[in-house]
Amino acid sequence: MLPVPKKRLGQHFLTDRHYIDRIVAAIAPQRADHLVEIGPGPGALTTPLADKLDHLHVVELDRELATALRERHAPSAVSVHESDALVFDFASLPAPLRVTGNLPYNVSTPLLFHIASFADRIVDCTFMLQKEVVDRMVAEPDSADYGRLSVMLQYRFQMRRLFLVPPGAFHPPPKVDSAIVRMVPLGADRLGAQDEARFGAVVQAAFGQRRKMLRNTLKALVTAEAFDRAGIDSQRRAETLSVAEFVALSDSAPPG
Ligand code: SAM
Repeated sequence: MLPVPKKRLGQHFLTDRHYIDRIVAAIAPQRADHLVEIGPGPGALTTPLADKLDHLHVVELDRELATALRERHAPSAVSVHESDALVFDFASLPAPLRVTGNLPYNVSTPLLFHIASFADRIVDCTFMLQKEVVDRMVAEPDSADYGRLSVMLQYRFQMRRLFLVPPGAFHPPPKVDSAIVRMVPLGADRLGAQDEARFGAVVQAAFGQRRKMLRNTLKALVTAEAFDRAGIDSQRRAETLSVAEFVALSDSAPPG
């Protein structure tokens, strides 16, 4: 029997065998993989994943669910980390690390940013998220979905939407469609900003008021000369800039 879902923890439990099998097939676990599942809940994905792996790590915030997982799986097969994934130190797990999970939708954006900070140790991520969030993650410039999330994640990962999962696959059904996304960290030859904190600040300020011209939104961060050095017209709007152009803008801005 499924536990009573807690709304504040974004609990929507997968119950549809067809989609459970498809997600596990998309993850394609290999015995020796170091895999961590975020938000295992009652274990719809956990059990089939654990069956295919020598060892699985899971990070679950809900004490009751973590206890139930410990009762069901031997510690030699599944390590249950009762912890908040938003602050969990993924560097404490063996690398190279694969990451998966039907993520709690109420914290998906900060969770994606937290996970991105461990990109150097990660091989790939296969996540289920609200479809609208996945659309924003994979969006291209000049589209309504393109924003801070697109730029900050595409800076580090190659991303692909795999398939949709309808509300009826869950208990209780969420109000929104869900989608599976695969994220693969870009290699060492990826475009890197000279100062990643500044890059993040430029992207955040630019999309803070996405309809305004960059010369207004970035007044405090990027001088007119810096726009010239980067070869970017300061009358453009954030949503027209590629990731590479944001990096160029950040690199030409004076440090500060
Ligand atoms: N994987 C299960 C499934 O597919 O049926 C449950 C998915 S449910 C959408 C999200 C899970 O994440 C819940 O088990 C919830 O308790 C857990 N969770 C919520 N916030 C969390 C957090 N900050 N850190 C770790 N787990 C969290």
